[in-house]
Amino acid sequence: MTTTTRPDAERNASPYLYGEEAAAVARVLEAGQYGHTEVTDEFERRIAAFLGVPDAVAVMSGTAALHTALLAAGVGPGDEVLVPSMTFCATVQAILATGATPRFVDIDPATLCVSAELIMDGITEATTAVMPVLFGGRGIDLSSIRGELTRRGIAVIEDAAHAFGSRVGSRRVGTSGDLTCFSFGPIKNLTCGQGGMIIPRTQEEADRARGIRLLGVVQSQAERTSTTTYTVGTFGLRYQMSGINAAIGLAQLNHVQRMEETRRDLWRAYQAALAPLNAVTVIDVDPEQSVPHLCQVRVPHRDEVFTRMREQRVGVGVHYPPNHLQPAFAEWSRPLPATEQVAGEILTLPFHQHLTPAGIDKTVTVLARCLKTVSAAA
Ligand SMILES: *Cc1c(COP(=O)(O)O)cnc(C)c1O
Repeated sequence: MTTTTRPDAERNASPYLYGEEAAAVARVLEAGQYGHTEVTDEFERRIAAFLGVPDAVAVMSGTAALHTALLAAGVGPGDEVLVPSMTFCATVQAILATGATPRFVDIDPATLCVSAELIMDGITEATTAVMPVLFGGRGIDLSSIRGELTRRGIAVIEDAAHAFGSRVGSRRVGTSGDLTCFSFGPIKNLTCGQGGMIIPRTQEEADRARGIRLLGVVQSQAERTSTTTYTVGTFGLRYQMSGINAAIGLAQLNHVQRMEETRRDLWRAYQAALAPLNAVTVIDVDPEQSVPHLCQVRVPHRDEVFTRMREQRVGVGVHYPPNHLQPAFAEWSRPLPATEQVAGEILTLPFHQHLTPAGIDKTVTVLARCLKTVSAAA
């Protein structure tokens, strides 16, 4: 179940199965629980219980979670949403899907995350929501500005796609009282195959999200079988999570502790192996608090190093090309010095639960050799 046909260091990311997922899916298929079913409801309850929050709303992807959360918070045309340019394009597309516009903000180059100060600097009269991205799994503490944001009527919608299991202080990400969105896509800390989860702030927000994800239809699937009509109460989309995906998530949820320990151990092994390389700066994810999602470094001559490592079959990547420089988002571009600086330096090393200490050593050895070759040629 957990074997791969390619050596682990060749992959940048890879789903990890614990062995019970296939049987769980088979049971759902045999029972015909394909759509939004009680398996989905059970997954929502288990996630809420794991986090210790009253409710959780499952949807089909992290992108759908972000879109639905924005809509549930009342974000729409005329609104401006603060978002770091340094994120996956999904965060920005979710904003545009509501009819609102993104306002790109800069990041702290040491963590690739926004901070309370950068958020306050970016706010304008039109800002109605901010979307901190918990980059690499690192939690962001906004407690110092929460009062001010509330006073201005600005909602916080956390993109916690990287951060399932992470903590800020003593609390888990998802329990801050802000709207939080998780992704359970193939390569995330916990996977449903595809999936996402919204942690709502209030019962009304949960109800709105549940309406949106089922095409705005008021009646449940069960209720619809006994009437000749149905009621479309609100705007909505086909965003529900199938029982098939929920079953995978439920099986994975039995192994969260192992997932957390493995990811922390692997990240620390990288940190130790990378420490002697003077040319390399590790993006700090704070593994005491976070469940590391990525292992990223900043290196000189990144493009050449990337090409050479790829040639040697090491699965390096770049997370992410900045969004304010993407053609689709050019209209909202503005200078972001730290983002533009790090964009040419960041390199993501292979990081997933199939990795072994030997694979990590091999990657770091290849990195050291490539850095030496490239700087000698420069
Ligand atoms: C994966 C990801 C998303 C989108 O989640 P999907 O489940 O792929 O739709 C959004 N933001 C970030 C930062 C992500 O890494």
